[in-house]
Amino acid sequence: METYWRKCGSCKKDIGLNQVYQVCSVCGGKFAFCSVDCWDQHVPVMNHKNAWAEESRSPAKSQTPTSTEQPVRRIVSSPSSASSSSTKGSPMEAEVLIVASKLKQYVKDKYDLSTSANVMDALSNEVRRITDRAAAKAMAEGRKTLMDRDF
Ligand SMILES: [Zn+2]
Ligand SMILES: [Zn+2]
Repeated sequence: METYWRKCGSCKKDIGLNQVYQVCSVCGGKFAFCSVDCWDQHVPVMNHKNAWAEESRSPAKSQTPTSTEQPVRRIVSSPSSASSSSTKGSPMEAEVLIVASKLKQYVKDKYDLSTSANVMDALSNEVRRITDRAAAKAMAEGRKTLMDRDF
């Protein structure tokens, strides 16, 4: 859980939410600096000729980063690309894995309820989630076959 917004580009100190920080006029949103001094330190490193620090304010909520200001953060905070890099992925990631007619019949018979179409998507996601976890268990045990006891 992140309690800060970004790290200072020089001293790596946390810059909190809704806090004044400095932006480099040359680097733009690539870096945020906690103070003008910290921005000053980075100018010789980056070999800037005409640069100045611009005061800005970090967002009040961490959930609202603007993509143009935070290209680095955007890559770091996409867990899907990070976690799926080790698996192959499948065209079935978005497909319905449930036999809709059978499920609808079951719900109808047992509870006298009708089943909305979205339920198939939700259940498919649930099946994928459980299957992913079971597959990880099978792989952890060095098996090439997914078995009932993995669930
Ligand atoms: Zn700093
Ligand atoms: Zn700069």
